[in-house]
Amino acid sequence: MNAVVQTLPLIEPATLLDSPVPITVAYGDGIGPEIMKASLKVLEVAGARLAIENIAIGEGVYLAGDSAGIEASAWDSLRQTKVFYKAPITTPQGGGYKSLNVTVRKSLGLFANVRPCVAYAPFVATKHPKMDVVIVRENEEDLYAGIEHRHSDEVYQCLKLITRPGCEKIVRYAFEYALANGRKKVTCFTKDNIMKMTDGLFHKVFDEIGAEYPAIEQEHWIVDIGAAKLADTPEVFDVIVMPNLYGDILSDVAAQIAGSVGLAGSANIGAHAAMFEAIHGSAPRLAGKDKANPSGLLLAGVMMMQHVGQSAVAESVHNAWLCTIEDGVHTYDIYKLGFSTQLVGTQAFADAVIARLGRTPSRLLPVSYDKAAKPIELPVYAPRPPARKELVGVDVFVHWAGHDPDLLALRLAPVVPRGIDLQVITNRGVKVWPNGLPETFCTDHWRCRFVMDQGLAGNNTMVAHFLLRLATAGLDVVKTENLYLFDGERGFSLAQGQ
Ligand code: NAD
Repeated sequence: MNAVVQTLPLIEPATLLDSPVPITVAYGDGIGPEIMKASLKVLEVAGARLAIENIAIGEGVYLAGDSAGIEASAWDSLRQTKVFYKAPITTPQGGGYKSLNVTVRKSLGLFANVRPCVAYAPFVATKHPKMDVVIVRENEEDLYAGIEHRHSDEVYQCLKLITRPGCEKIVRYAFEYALANGRKKVTCFTKDNIMKMTDGLFHKVFDEIGAEYPAIEQEHWIVDIGAAKLADTPEVFDVIVMPNLYGDILSDVAAQIAGSVGLAGSANIGAHAAMFEAIHGSAPRLAGKDKANPSGLLLAGVMMMQHVGQSAVAESVHNAWLCTIEDGVHTYDIYKLGFSTQLVGTQAFADAVIARLGRTPSRLLPVSYDKAAKPIELPVYAPRPPARKELVGVDVFVHWAGHDPDLLALRLAPVVPRGIDLQVITNRGVKVWPNGLPETFCTDHWRCRFVMDQGLAGNNTMVAHFLLRLATAGLDVVKTENLYLFDGERGFSLAQGQ
């Protein structure tokens, strides 16, 4: 039996009754301060017991010269409270500023991004009145590793990293979330028909872990048709788990088609900490106008109150919010003649929710939170025994401004040592040598695949010497990738057309 790790910070209920829970709050940029003020006011009047530490993040910090957008001292607060209630921030354009959200999520190991997208028909206009989907997005990996390089005049690269522990954590979290929240089905979206190794691993882990949850219906969709189906008939989905990029894009789509991107909150959950935020950004054009909808941040606050063990407050605020929506008291983004009764600004909306505390909705389904709910627990990742890894070749990427791959092959021929063979040359992944098609468009970035004779397999020094020979011969090697077999299984994809 594996040891277990809490996916939520351990907060003793007995302590909660006596003393406020420390949380870190950032008011953010743009509409951030307005919606944070409104949301905290509702939570406090509803009886939230919180000890708030404020930190500065975002535009001001960036422009003061910190490219991460967060001061060193803010990390101390986050690591101490382990709970971050964060308003949206503005990332200045250009200038090498790193996304603060990605930094916080990854630095604190917040691997699961949970985004409920719910329709509130007939009170908020939507084409999908029955929609009630929770998107569980992997939060730390994929193209968001942020590892990008320029290789040549024409070619730029972004690395997509998918790991087994990352897949296991997020997929198991999705199933556990479904169990804990009475959800019936978990769907997985990937593009493993194209990215057979990276998305292929995500899908494989989904099947492996899914087998441990026979009571939950499960299915996999290729992300393109899955996304089309989500936009068309979202009511057929329940929980959807996906890698980072697809989850980022599709959770905005899902929130918007449910009614408004301004309505959705999200939780970022890790083993050591959690962050709660609206899914929308800082909407700078709305800033200072008291027009923004605070609902996304307020509903994120509801998730936070559950997380810190104050479920009664979460339930009371959520039901009062549903009453407000049901009564047609709406901010401009969801205000619609025939649906709404009163157009209000940010602070008046918060006051309307406060006025309804203690009430339950009569037409929308009231929420009821389990006061004894336990945090979701995940097993500590158990690494598998290492595979037998054998070096069998190397992909050498060359920046070369020529056009005829036959000429490149001729140039390489005298440099290639005995025991190593040039197997194929590709351009943007498609085979152009030997026997390429003249129609294939080529850029200045050539992948030359060299395979080693069996007797040389595993010989790393041989590869290093070979690279030296290529450099000495004046070839502009911009990148190499070793080719390995793992327990005899190919650890690299074949070229398109190979
Ligand atoms: P945005 O989500 O801030 O706004 C897009 C549009 O959506 C707005 O113009 C507005 O019409 C509407 N909208 C958003 N939130 C609303 C609300 N609460 N009430 C009513 N309408 C609302 O997206 P953007 O304009 O692309 O980004 C603005 C800034 O926000 C950028 O600097 C971006 O980097 C940042 N951003 C931050 C976060 C975050 O902090 N979590 C997330 C996304 C974007």
